[in-house]
Amino acid sequence: MAYLQFLGAAGTVTGSKHLINTHNSSEGKQGLQVLIDCGLFQGPKEWRERNWQQTPVPAREIDAVILTHAHLDHCGWIPRLVREGFSGPIYATQPTIDLCSVVLPDSGHLQEEEARFHNQKRSSKHDPALPLYTLEEAENCLKLFQPVAFAAEKRVSPEISFRFVHAGHILGSCMVEVFFSANGDTRKFLFTGDIGRVPLQPTAPGRVVRLGPDQGEDPELLVMESTYGNRVHPHEDVRPQLAKIINDAVHRGGSIVVPAFAVERTQKFLFLIKELMESNLISHVPVFIDSPMAIKAVEIFMKYGEEFTDEARSLVKKYGSPMEWQGFHFAAKQEDSKKINDVRYPCIIVSSSGMVTGGRVLHHLMLRLSDPRNQVLFIGFQAPGTRGEIIKSGAKSVRFFSQEVPIRAQVAALEQFSDHADTAELLYWLKTFQRPPQNTYLVHGEPQASARLQQAISSTLGWNVKVANWLEKVPLG
Ligand SMILES: [Zn+2]
Repeated sequence: MAYLQFLGAAGTVTGSKHLINTHNSSEGKQGLQVLIDCGLFQGPKEWRERNWQQTPVPAREIDAVILTHAHLDHCGWIPRLVREGFSGPIYATQPTIDLCSVVLPDSGHLQEEEARFHNQKRSSKHDPALPLYTLEEAENCLKLFQPVAFAAEKRVSPEISFRFVHAGHILGSCMVEVFFSANGDTRKFLFTGDIGRVPLQPTAPGRVVRLGPDQGEDPELLVMESTYGNRVHPHEDVRPQLAKIINDAVHRGGSIVVPAFAVERTQKFLFLIKELMESNLISHVPVFIDSPMAIKAVEIFMKYGEEFTDEARSLVKKYGSPMEWQGFHFAAKQEDSKKINDVRYPCIIVSSSGMVTGGRVLHHLMLRLSDPRNQVLFIGFQAPGTRGEIIKSGAKSVRFFSQEVPIRAQVAALEQFSDHADTAELLYWLKTFQRPPQNTYLVHGEPQASARLQQAISSTLGWNVKVANWLEKVPLG
């Protein structure tokens, strides 16, 4: 009997991996095995340790990977899968492939750095500590990627074909409609990956790429994310608040440091700042973008103007690429990054990592956190235990390596920047379905978030909905 098995993002928000096995046999491989997403487990150690386990079916027997988007919790385990013996095609949209060619090698580099760090400190129970995969392995797996256009039907085998539809989450992101033919019957399954903000009202201004998932779906089986299954995002326009924070800091003679994820969040923020400057709502202070990966991502974004919102498109039409905007400085090299330290007049510094766990933003904060004229502005989620969360929570000081730095700068957080639909938006999207799926499984959520969304769907829509368990198998017969 064919089955679907949840190999990740079940009981947690990371490690997305859903295996379709078209013929379950104890006598070795028969039929087709396809993995939808191949994400890295991140966060608590209990989950990260699963990155070191093998897949329940041998990696070499998996025939193909179908990828929804370029976030590491959806694509970051691909180099490891390849190391374990996978050699099939990895299907993704072209923008996703471009972004993966930046984020996967960077992830390999970080894995190597981490192993080196543990070996120097002798802080791992493994001797020597090894990287999950290397930069070279991450680069090598890129040759397996094959582009598939939105809405084009791609056949993987006589029994399985699929189609990408828009998820509106980040550049290139898609949901996967899988068509499974057996016994003369074809059934449709929908895997949402991550779902972007659904435009209930003019929310999330400053979006660069299109907003929201395609509507009017009709799958028999739905596998859906539930990251914000228990939350409602603030819906008010972020621009007045953002302008006030920046203006106040500039009047104090301070600078604004914005820790931001390099892909999508940084681009979104830059477009918003440009819009505010050109509307004269904030002054034209210099903006430094200090993250090599963010710079590469801007270049990739500019290749895909057709995915932009009208606002982003008209900004580009008027002022060109962010790389050419006057007063916007991109620091590719280490020397350029160091030069920002000498800037004493008010400026905006956008740098990664978004949760202050590493990267060049560390140096900017070490230098500027102790001056009360300065401003730290968070525009993304801060996971518990990260420096970002410590600073955001109002702590008096924070540790960088062996140095305790006092926090005297002003600290603010804007929550409107999320790239995930909230509960109301998810329900609104589900109501556009042509008919209820026979079964809905919730994945990609912390247990409380998934449980709340399950409750909301079953009470509002009356659908048959379950929360997926890790390694649970669902028959597809
Ligand atoms: Zn995502």
